[in-house]
Amino acid sequence: MCFMSSFPRSETPMSEPLPCPECGAVRMSQTVGSYRLENGLIVKRLRHFKCQSCGARFFDDDAVRRIQAKRQEQSVARAV
Ligand SMILES: [Zn+2]
Repeated sequence: MCFMSSFPRSETPMSEPLPCPECGAVRMSQTVGSYRLENGLIVKRLRHFKCQSCGARFFDDDAVRRIQAKRQEQSVARAV
């Protein structure tokens, strides 16, 4: 008997297809790239989802946390 050892991976890619809340198409794909905030700040290498049908972008909890951290960074810098 020979089993290939399989270790659980810490990072499981989301393979579940998500329907786009904007257009309803199940064409969401995960992408990593810079995202520009409304105030001009840029969050680099942000992992997020993009609808291939209408181009809408969506963020998971982790991405939202990074955006919030970036915003906070700036408000701290302004206070100094
Ligand atoms: Zn869409």
